[in-house]
Amino acid sequence: MERASSLAKTVSLLEGAGEVCLACHIRPDADALGSMLALAHALRAPGRRPQRVIASFGDQPFEVPDILHFLPGLDLLSPPGAVPGRPELMITFDAGSLDRLGLLAGPAARAGELVVIDHHASNTRFGTIHLVDPAAAATAILVLDLIDALDIELTADIALGLYAGVVTDTGSFKFPATTPAVHQMAARLLSTGIEPGAVARELWDRAPFGYLGLLSGALARAVLEPAAAAGHGLVWTTVSCADRAAHGLNLDAVEPVIDVVRRTDEAGVAVVLKQSDDGLWQVSARSKGAVDVGRACATLGGGGHRNAAGFTAAGGPAETLAQLRPLLAEG
Ligand code: MN
Repeated sequence: MERASSLAKTVSLLEGAGEVCLACHIRPDADALGSMLALAHALRAPGRRPQRVIASFGDQPFEVPDILHFLPGLDLLSPPGAVPGRPELMITFDAGSLDRLGLLAGPAARAGELVVIDHHASNTRFGTIHLVDPAAAATAILVLDLIDALDIELTADIALGLYAGVVTDTGSFKFPATTPAVHQMAARLLSTGIEPGAVARELWDRAPFGYLGLLSGALARAVLEPAAAAGHGLVWTTVSCADRAAHGLNLDAVEPVIDVVRRTDEAGVAVVLKQSDDGLWQVSARSKGAVDVGRACATLGGGGHRNAAGFTAAGGPAETLAQLRPLLAEG
């Protein structure tokens, strides 16, 4: 009910606005950036209002992660400085809280109307209108609802952004939220002519040669704690700035390490601690379902979902794991 009235309100706001600002979360993933670019493409349909669409995210420096360079519409992006301090209408994508907008948190807080489109259970409902559904497998699904409500025809450019979001957030249609409706949505997207194989290759099936060495080091360092996480088991490893520098890789390139580590049969929870260029440790956690890593990460200042979450650690790996273990033991 709330969703239907939020959708209707968002449609009427978009139809009445002269300008709309779109913002996805910082260090965007495919669901965040793909969803935002899909709506940016949709709003460019002929005769559409609003006439001016500004799409951005609040990172400084303003850089699209390498892995997402295949998304159509990067030319529609503007640096965060292009967003007015007090936007008339703003829409956020895949951000569970205001701080996930980085430099755009201020403009979002001051926006005349702020539409929050998201699927994080931890969403703090920081907008004036909320299209928030924790049961949705991806923000992209909620954006497709909006595009349908706006009565805009799907194009391949719109579909590719949404498909990248859905395929990423469902772990290639493997996670529990992958309902028959998700597959039906994917079928609609594919019917525009986009190629699933090409998307998979860009997202998962390629890496620079240096990644092999980095992965090899991270796997060799991995530690298994079978009794941790209330007996479900914890496996963890680290990738420091020095490790990345030795192989000439940026932080984004380390992202897929968790997908190998989490395969460990003896561990219900997998954690990778990655050091970013500022020296801080970014923690990624994955669960096979028995343990709520979203709650554990939220307690430590981050967020995410039951089976996939993260946070920025205040200390180093040993200290961070010492904070994390009791939270994981709560189940
Ligand atoms: Mn998402």
